[in-house]
Amino acid sequence: MSAAPTRAGFVAIVGAPNAGKSTLVNALVGSKVSIVSPKVQTTRMRVIGIAMTDLPDGSRAQVVLVDTPGIFRIAKRRLERAMVAAAWQGAEDADAVALVVDAERGLGEDTRAIAGKLKESRAPRFLILNKIDLVPRERLLALTAEANALLAFGHTFMVSALKQDGVADVLAAFAATLPAGPFLYPEDQAADLPMRLLAAEVTREQVFLQLHQELPYEAAVETDKWEERANGVRIEQTIHVQREGQRAIVLGKGGTRIKQIGARARHELAHMLERPVHLFLHVKVSERWADDPAHYRAIGLDYEP
Ligand code: GDP
Ligand code: MG
Repeated sequence: MSAAPTRAGFVAIVGAPNAGKSTLVNALVGSKVSIVSPKVQTTRMRVIGIAMTDLPDGSRAQVVLVDTPGIFRIAKRRLERAMVAAAWQGAEDADAVALVVDAERGLGEDTRAIAGKLKESRAPRFLILNKIDLVPRERLLALTAEANALLAFGHTFMVSALKQDGVADVLAAFAATLPAGPFLYPEDQAADLPMRLLAAEVTREQVFLQLHQELPYEAAVETDKWEERANGVRIEQTIHVQREGQRAIVLGKGGTRIKQIGARARHELAHMLERPVHLFLHVKVSERWADDPAHYRAIGLDYEP
């Protein structure tokens, strides 16, 4: 017997702060994705949840929900501009984009700005009017017309993410737009993968902040182990560098630099996860890491010249 055919892809969830994006992602994934407003804003797309679902045609779909960090930053400095540009690029790289609107608040200035930017994206667009538990139906129809006048959406959904009302239809529609292909992440990792990636990002940011003058490129960080324990979470990570000399730089004299990187990253992670974190860092020379585009895709940033 052959396995069921699969689909997989990325759906970018965009919208003004407080529109209900996190609540919607939690409802779609069906379990709490405990990432609390991470401050790190460096990658184009950040995985915030992975939803698995079955389609009526018998295929199974892996919907990787991403957000595009930095979209709201008022970019003054060069690095910030690069991050914001990268974030918009992330929205374009996704297989579909969903704009979440707080139906009670309506189309504010930031939602309009996002809608304007989405015009440039060729990915299928979904409009999700959220918090319908708070507004009368007539208002929803008017809002749908208003939003579609601003930007034509392929589908409009009216949901209450909080009450999980209408969320299953959204997931089915996301899944149906994704291309046929193998799953992007192993199914058994799907639950804690967003946290693993986030934790890797936090450490990578510390490596960058503390060593950007000495390391000619951004080191890659991988979370190898993630174990929930009674007294907190134990995280093991590998910092991949290309050469022995770079390994020495990351370690520092007598290991002082790696200690400093670990201390800051641990502090940041404990704050985000709201529980004690035991962080163990290894530094490894992995020359071939640099040649593997799959590893680079996750850390790509376009710098303005
Ligand atoms: P985000 O900033 O877009 O990620 O928004 P959040 O998911 O953090 O939600 C912002 C606030 O709106 C929170 O207090 C949520 O509980 C609330 N919220 C989200 N969805 C709904 C909904 O469908 N109905 C109601 N009444 N409140 C919601
Ligand atoms: Mg949020």
